[in-house]
Amino acid sequence: MRRSEKMPLLQKLYVVEATKGLFVTCRHFITNLVKVLAKMLGLRRAAPVATYEYPDEIRSYPPRYRGRHRLTLYDDGRVKCTACYLCATACPAKCIYIEAAEHPDSQIEKYPGRYEIDTLLCVYCGFCVEACPVDAIRMDSGIHPEVYSGDPRDYIEDKETLMQRSRDLDEKGPDLLRQMHLEKMRGIEKNPFAK
Ligand code: SF4
Ligand code: SF4
Repeated sequence: MRRSEKMPLLQKLYVVEATKGLFVTCRHFITNLVKVLAKMLGLRRAAPVATYEYPDEIRSYPPRYRGRHRLTLYDDGRVKCTACYLCATACPAKCIYIEAAEHPDSQIEKYPGRYEIDTLLCVYCGFCVEACPVDAIRMDSGIHPEVYSGDPRDYIEDKETLMQRSRDLDEKGPDLLRQMHLEKMRGIEKNPFAK
């Protein structure tokens, strides 16, 4: 489809269009305000607006929700990843960095000496999880990104972080992890500049 490149004069002036937009915003604002007041006065049962007061009010995530990544582990604590690079190849954001290393055990061909995800670039598409042939990477942690830093380096999750997330999930379970995440969010909300 090709867009018309010619704009009528009224659109070119922007004033009419901006006024129209303002009118729509005001209409929604007043409608929602009336609904909220009606609910407060007991004149209305239904929730006035669909907005959740996060983090005080939380929405249940669907079972297939894609949360923060984790690298899965064998029972003996070894990482399952075989450094095959399929996840990095499938990643549309090119935000997975892997360095394969020789494993001390001669029975194992290689393992990821370095495995990093730049979550600032990640679009949480889940392609890496789909691409992995050995179920070594998952996004079932149930929690969403929670780094709020001015330094882009803080958003890079290394192998140990991703492995620790699997241990935490195993020890605490998704509900407790989510609870801890929400406590953290409430803390940030109360004191956004605390280190
Ligand atoms: S979720 Fe998507 S963008 Fe993020 S690391 Fe995986 S493949 Fe890349
Ligand atoms: S996480 Fe899976 S797809 Fe990615 S390098 Fe490791 S084994 Fe391969």
